[in-house]
Amino acid sequence: ATQGSTGNEERILVSVRVRPLNDKEIAKYDLSEWECINDTTIMYRSNLSASERSLYPTTYTFDRVFKTDCPTRQVYEEASKEVALSVLNGINSSIFAYGQTSSGKTYTMSGITEYAIADIFNHIEKHKEREFVLKFSAMEIYNESVRDLLSTDTTPLRLLDDPEKGTVVEKLTEETLRDWNHFTELISFCETQRQIGETSLNEASSRSHQILRLTIESSASEFLGNDKLSSLSASVNFVDLAGSERASQTNSAGARLKEGCHINRSLLTLGTVIRKLSKGRNGHIPFRDSKLTRILQSSIGGNARTAIICTMSPARSYVEQTRNTLLFACCAK
Ligand code: ADP
Ligand code: MG
Repeated sequence: ATQGSTGNEERILVSVRVRPLNDKEIAKYDLSEWECINDTTIMYRSNLSASERSLYPTTYTFDRVFKTDCPTRQVYEEASKEVALSVLNGINSSIFAYGQTSSGKTYTMSGITEYAIADIFNHIEKHKEREFVLKFSAMEIYNESVRDLLSTDTTPLRLLDDPEKGTVVEKLTEETLRDWNHFTELISFCETQRQIGETSLNEASSRSHQILRLTIESSASEFLGNDKLSSLSASVNFVDLAGSERASQTNSAGARLKEGCHINRSLLTLGTVIRKLSKGRNGHIPFRDSKLTRILQSSIGGNARTAIICTMSPARSYVEQTRNTLLFACCAK
């Protein structure tokens, strides 16, 4: 444990967000099987069979549970803002969206990213006594291959071990972020890059991880006599993970046979890393077992702050996957 800490700020903040039933689900007369009974607890509504009862709880409790009508703004404020803005104090952080394909990861993470960047620009505006440099980069991990989303070059990038900085992504583009418009331009560029070479965006996003990284360097405009505060540098990472159906080894035979539904190494390793970190930060944590966890090591281990937002559909037809998501979330607490 970090000296002087209460232990509280080391914990991983874990939340669950339930999206509304969509038109397709409603058209199929799919039903909502889950009920948020308060701000922290979600309950499975139907009776569990005898065999299920030994495997699954009926209620699950997290730091926060967001009902279907909660706006993303609230999810940002209550489940990720503090973690994201710790970057302004020189503390690395990561925010993850975890859940099966179509559960709302991209919807949630893109909103959170926009609110956080807007808050960061506001903070900078209000703190003229410091000089800030913002560097933005974006990458995608697909089949354990890392690609630069700010470049038209699709050559896989190598990971290098730097004795001072730890793992660095070689040749990754870093854009110096000027203002809000510049940010939205870069985001739309990433989106077009993500679609290139994929049969559909949905297929690509179900298999790949997207990391948007903002590195903030700041220094006192005038030297204030305090070395430590005079210069700070840290990164915040917004991570839209591959569909969690790629992490379950316990999928039903049908799901496992579905074409391409193979286990995703980065997602599996992230699960192991998060589970181990939530049990204490000592001992061996297998960061080096996947590209995702290598790239994010300095932003999830050590004194970094982490938030995980697990997204889920309330639909009966997804109960099995949703339970896997909730069990993952329980392990992360
Ligand atoms: P994922 O990235 O997990 O595959 P998406 O974020 O693309 O899922 O969401 C799937 C669909 O559901 C999208 O059309 C999205 O707009 C919609 N959606 C997701 N979450 C919500 C929500 N909380 N409220 C309303 N619509 C949502
Ligand atoms: Mg998505």
